[in-house]
Amino acid sequence: MLEVEGLVKSFKGFRAVDGITFRVEAGEIVGLLGPNGAGKTTTLRCICGILKPDAGRIVIGGYDLAQHEREAKRLLAFIPETPNPYELLTVREHLKLIAMCYDTLPLYEQRADELLARYELLDKANALAGTLSKGMKQKLAAVCALVHDAKVFLCDEPLMGIDPRGQYTLKAELQRLRDEGCAILVSTHQLDTAERLCDRVIIMHKGHILAEGTLSELQARAQMEGSTLEEVFLRLTEEAESPAPEAMPVQGG
Ligand code: ATP
Repeated sequence: MLEVEGLVKSFKGFRAVDGITFRVEAGEIVGLLGPNGAGKTTTLRCICGILKPDAGRIVIGGYDLAQHEREAKRLLAFIPETPNPYELLTVREHLKLIAMCYDTLPLYEQRADELLARYELLDKANALAGTLSKGMKQKLAAVCALVHDAKVFLCDEPLMGIDPRGQYTLKAELQRLRDEGCAILVSTHQLDTAERLCDRVIIMHKGHILAEGTLSELQARAQMEGSTLEEVFLRLTEEAESPAPEAMPVQGG
């Protein structure tokens, strides 16, 4: 459903993403993990077309993003790390705008009130987005992603700032979408949540993929059977940070 091949993105010569390749299949939630600055947000921003990659190929639902941008983006929903709603549009107008952009107005009519109620935003439906609290803006970003008929969801720290009930609702929603065959890529630092929510994780480090797999595959790789994702993550990223042992000097000769 989502294929990323040899993705490279540099900023003024600094390679934030350095040739990564991965897939997210229909019907799975994949966690995108990594220390600060690993390249997670840059990767997500390239996939959703906000940043233009320097090299590589992104294919969404069979459509190459570079060649069939419109068709590819139609299948995509993005929950950004820092939501930036239109301050002078109301909550309900946001949903309507998104539905109009994606040609899904009938879905908007059908889903808007239900979604707003589920995320406890119904009483703010006619409030300007600029007046919402931080967590409410994050909920609005989630609701905007859910109002059209996306098949691939990119979520950058989607739970940040959302209250516990909202987090529970969103996690359940992502699991339901996964079960309905959507492909979901979630960047997060909440490793206990990632352990429960994700079928597989990708650990990024300095623009590269350091490790990828299910928890048991990563435990085996780190030789840490029975450990938590947090423990395995800390071990693998620590190893990647520590310099390789120096070669022993050759004796004699
Ligand atoms: P975090 O967990 O802190 O959100 P991240 O893994 O999402 O980090 P990115 O935001 O992708 O990391 O950043 C990767 C690297 O690219 C960092 O070194 C960052 O400083 C750099 N970077 C990102 N965006 C830009 C930009 N617009 N201009 C210059 N450098 C950038």
